[in-house]
Amino acid sequence: MSQDTDQTRLDYLDRPQFQSLLDVLQDAGFRCVGPQVSDHAIVFEEISYVGQLPTGMVDRQGPGRYTLKDTGTGRFFYWVSGPQALKPHLFLPREVLWQVDRDDDGKLHFSSACGQPQGVAFIGVRSCDLAALDLLDRHFLQGDYVDSAYQSRRQQIFIIAVNCARSAETCFCHSTGDGPQVRGGGYDLLLSELDEGFIITSGSSKGDEILVRLPLRASTNQQHEQVRQELVSAEQQQRSLPSTDLNEKLMSQLEHPRWDDLQERCLSCGNCTAVCPTCFCHSEIDHPGLNGMTSEHIREWDSCFTSGHSYIHGHVLRDDTRKRYRQWLTHKLATWHDQYQRSGCVGCGRCITWCPVGIDLTEEVAVICGGDAHG
Ligand code: SF4
Ligand code: SF4
Repeated sequence: MSQDTDQTRLDYLDRPQFQSLLDVLQDAGFRCVGPQVSDHAIVFEEISYVGQLPTGMVDRQGPGRYTLKDTGTGRFFYWVSGPQALKPHLFLPREVLWQVDRDDDGKLHFSSACGQPQGVAFIGVRSCDLAALDLLDRHFLQGDYVDSAYQSRRQQIFIIAVNCARSAETCFCHSTGDGPQVRGGGYDLLLSELDEGFIITSGSSKGDEILVRLPLRASTNQQHEQVRQELVSAEQQQRSLPSTDLNEKLMSQLEHPRWDDLQERCLSCGNCTAVCPTCFCHSEIDHPGLNGMTSEHIREWDSCFTSGHSYIHGHVLRDDTRKRYRQWLTHKLATWHDQYQRSGCVGCGRCITWCPVGIDLTEEVAVICGGDAHG
């Protein structure tokens, strides 16, 4: 044993042993969902063996730009983020909420379409994703009306978070206080990846139960120091948002000429709201069967950028892109404070990367609120 080994910590998993984590999770009844390369991006999909992980992959991101490069390293989590966080797995893009059946006597019978989901272990969840999950929880689980579809999935998940060893060009989580280091709770296990293996710690009793079944050994102080250095390096981000509450500032700028400028650039495509891990707007539709005996009530993701989203009593209230972009930005960064006591942005940068015309909210805020937000 080397001299710098702290023998009180059994918290190191050698890379060749990573499969044991997947095996133990599956043995405990979890379906594992982790990062994989699909359609030239990193997405969360079902996973059962380490060969499916994006080994050596690094993402290069910029406004309207995302590419993957195989660096040839052995790391599984050296990429930063793909177009998804946990949102599509907990708040489904489209789902039947309830259905109604007519019996032979013409009586209607309503029933929930939400089943009891299997437990899912998410592997590779980032700090900003945890912050976004906390915001989704505030929206769907708090207050007088709890969303039972979201709740039933949320209660079954096991989260394996990963500290970011690097940041993408579009990340600004350090300025919003949501990353790149996982702080506080919200996870069951936390990984810090090094070339040869992982420092792994538990954040819950469920995590403890999995941890004791892994072939761990003691980590060294040198390994902890390397993790610390990589985290410091990941904090050096090119973009930022002001750390102050922008509510008053943004809401006093509703007639700023920059909104007209945005109207010229924004396509109202809704990509930004689809990839945003905290956007929760949706619409609901009824889908009657052709036999007149059944009907399904369906919830689908919606967006500030659709005309239907502001349709009320025969009028589309936000009838141009200027109003729609303004609604998105002022809700996300300003009035969200009134609703959820914090900004709705966790600094993941996805809306910048996946905007087809590269609109960058940090730049828009800098112009609209004055000053330079790219500190
Ligand atoms: S607004 Fe953009 S940067 Fe902020 S959480 Fe949503 S996608 Fe991420
Ligand atoms: S800001 Fe970009 S991603 Fe969002 S609606 Fe406009 S063009 Fe689409």
